[in-house]
Amino acid sequence: MADPAPLGPLSVAESPEAKFREFLEIRGEKLTEPRRVLVRHIFDSHKHFDADELVADLRTAGRQVSRSTVYRTLRLLVEANLLRELRLTNRTAYEHDYGYPSHDHLHCTECNAVVEFRNDAITQLRESVSREHGFRPVGHRFIITGICPACTRARSPRRRLDLI
Ligand SMILES: [Zn+2]
Ligand SMILES: [Zn+2]
Repeated sequence: MADPAPLGPLSVAESPEAKFREFLEIRGEKLTEPRRVLVRHIFDSHKHFDADELVADLRTAGRQVSRSTVYRTLRLLVEANLLRELRLTNRTAYEHDYGYPSHDHLHCTECNAVVEFRNDAITQLRESVSREHGFRPVGHRFIITGICPACTRARSPRRRLDLI
């Protein structure tokens, strides 16, 4: 799933690797070599990926990390707030949370494209609804599912003829 990430990264004081090492140390665990390889690989570029895509990606890059290590490390990275889990209609995707601005998504259920956007009205709504209920908001999930423009065009040949 190659999709553009129009939002720029935030500057952060610590590398994801250092953050993860600290998180693991607190739990009495170590940043093992496979975990280090994974964190570096994942934080090389911002995209939305699922576990299977990551496994395939690592294989292409010639990196030997077992599937179970990938799954377990993804869970740990979510717990450490380095990655964010994105529950899409048909699968669970991951993306950078640490060092990346908060945003929301559109998900095309035909081609699986994920588009990022920011909209202040959503943040304001979150604040006002939380205030009403005496909540202190720390996050939200908002995903618009539907059909992207390319898939809409591909679906309706009649409309394409109308344009000619
Ligand atoms: Zn699409
Ligand atoms: Zn995103």
